[in-house]
Amino acid sequence: MVFNLIHEKWIWVNRQDGKREKIAPWEITDKLDSNPVISLAAPRPDFNGSLIQFLIGLVQTTMSPKNEREWRKHFINPPTTDDLQETFDNVSNAFNLDGENERFMQDYDSFEGVENRVDLLLMEMPGEKTIKDNTDHFIKRDTVSQMCFSCCATALFNLQLNAPTGGQGHRTSLRGGGPLTTLVLGNNLWQTIWLNVISEDNFERLGNIDKNAISDIYPWMGPTRTSEKKGMDTTPMDVNPKQMYWGMPRRISIDFYDLKEGFCDVCGCETDRLVSRYVTKNHGINYEGGWCHVLSPYRETKDSIISLHPRPGGITYRHWLGLIQNDPENG
Ligand SMILES: [Zn+2]
Repeated sequence: MVFNLIHEKWIWVNRQDGKREKIAPWEITDKLDSNPVISLAAPRPDFNGSLIQFLIGLVQTTMSPKNEREWRKHFINPPTTDDLQETFDNVSNAFNLDGENERFMQDYDSFEGVENRVDLLLMEMPGEKTIKDNTDHFIKRDTVSQMCFSCCATALFNLQLNAPTGGQGHRTSLRGGGPLTTLVLGNNLWQTIWLNVISEDNFERLGNIDKNAISDIYPWMGPTRTSEKKGMDTTPMDVNPKQMYWGMPRRISIDFYDLKEGFCDVCGCETDRLVSRYVTKNHGINYEGGWCHVLSPYRETKDSIISLHPRPGGITYRHWLGLIQNDPENG
């Protein structure tokens, strides 16, 4: 059976009564009146940061409100789980993690590449050189050698979303390496998602909305726009601007043939489907030219806009004014 990210229960959440459970994406409005889903509850905080962007992206790309009025209508009367299931089902073929057809966030074409241990999907893990030099003093090799499908899907999305510089031709995320994401928070998970969704008319000025093929939004649904010397850059005029939610700078193919049985090294669950390897290749999609991600703050310079990145050490008190106040005169 193919693991489908619309149909499977793979997202860890907390309900109001404190219960932690796994849900499918269309269950985000389940029991809104009695015991709503309040927040994400993945085994790692960076996974929560990616999963909320997965859900915002999914809702934005499948049920964009036409205008502010429709936005308000859904905020006051959220869609039922049946509505959401029907809506998300229209794109479920783009959300197979494994199987013979197109696979979520993985390259459309089969390719020869470098084989990596699955822990390299996690950005803090020591790379090949660190291990060769035996300098993995603080974050040790082999602490994560196998992952369940839920953790693997999240780690894969997390890497594509935040991709740091990773050697020659390994492209960074659409907002550069390790971008800053700012969200408006609601009282429950549905509100937090919907408060960050914008109305459809905004996308006209963000790129070419006439690019309507499924691969213009979900890039793994078609051949990768590779970026070797003879390759090309990808701007918001070349594809649909909603690809900003589904950027895929890295060419990755997860090995689903050699699965193991046992415990997931990230969440600890027991399963007979554990992933331990993937193959990757450089010169994936190179995002250039005027991308303006809806969930990131930008700084204006004379001739371009630059997305903000958090500094090592995090965001401190002295940053708060710049983060909350728009100052057009100083960019
Ligand atoms: Zn897991």
